Amino acid sequence: MVAGLGADAALITSGVNVRYLTGLVSSNAALLLPVQGTSVLATDCRYAGTAERECQDTELVVERDVAAALVRRALASGLRAIAFEDRDLTVQRHRELTGISGTGSGSGSAGPDLVPAGGAIDEPRMVKDEAEIELLARACAITGEAFSVLLDRLRPGVTEREYAVALERAMIDLGADAVAFDSIVASGPNGAIPHHVPGNRPFSAGDLVTVDCGALFGGYHADMTRTVAIGKPAAWQCEIYQIVAEAQAAGVAAAKPGAEVGDVDAVSRDLIEAAGHGAHFAHGLGHGVGLEIHEAPIIGYGRTGTLADRVPITIEPGIYLPGAGGVRIEDTLVVRAGAGAAGSAQPLTTITRELLVL
Ligand code: ZN
Ligand code: ZN
Repeated sequence: MVAGLGADAALITSGVNVRYLTGLVSSNAALLLPVQGTSVLATDCRYAGTAERECQDTELVVERDVAAALVRRALASGLRAIAFEDRDLTVQRHRELTGISGTGSGSGSAGPDLVPAGGAIDEPRMVKDEAEIELLARACAITGEAFSVLLDRLRPGVTEREYAVALERAMIDLGADAVAFDSIVASGPNGAIPHHVPGNRPFSAGDLVTVDCGALFGGYHADMTRTVAIGKPAAWQCEIYQIVAEAQAAGVAAAKPGAEVGDVDAVSRDLIEAAGHGAHFAHGLGHGVGLEIHEAPIIGYGRTGTLADRVPITIEPGIYLPGAGGVRIEDTLVVRAGAGAAGSAQPLTTITRELLVL
């Protein structure tokens, strides 16, 4: 990972990558990965004990300003070209780190040469190992269980907010460490807003209700959306549901190892467009999930990249009709190389995709 960056070392500052590379969960830690030699982990005294116990293959530095400590450490070891996470480091921190000077005399006192690492630090996280997939599967199972347990709360009179709170509480009760993201509960006309914030609107007969939720377990984020009907659905509601369900199934079927992400998006999007709803599906088809809720690969129009074995993704097409309502169906899946030629995407969220009429 570091060798290809054209630098002497990489400075890892995002909590999620420090966790991935060392196992340490901390709100203040950074890691120096030299091209050669032992890595150095810096954290403050709140996490030092845990780091000492759990991260034994790295050298430990206990300091509050973790990134600065590691840059000074790098310079003292003669490492000047330092690749950094340009999507994580703020402009202010970058300026501060650039201003650090070495301790030697002459050229030894020169500051660091900070080189943007681009996506190279995140890339290795895209393909998961079986232990990671197991944690993600557990997060997805908890999500499905909570949704099932709470089905009877999807009834007239219960507000979006009351339901969202109960759903999140159920995920925690069932073993989630936390919720993976703020739940979206969008009823009736609110369903036309893809990321509607649950409010005080009570569900009522004739609503479609879109629920987008996920549990966090062992650091891994589940992501699932189901749309249900409260009372007998109208013909237009059944129609858009059917289109989205077909588009979702087509996207899932196309998500195989070797597939281009733009092509997977197109397979699903083309069906929605052909049904006359192209303008009502304005977001991407899906995204990678793991230690972050949205991570590589992004599956969308104009995106590039190839799916591979053991890459977890979501497939989540929708149709949103302003003023009327909407439908979205989303699963978390893991792309698997098959015993046969093509492989497939296996769903980790397994709640039925048939329209539930409650
Ligand atoms: Zn979602
Ligand atoms: Zn999603």
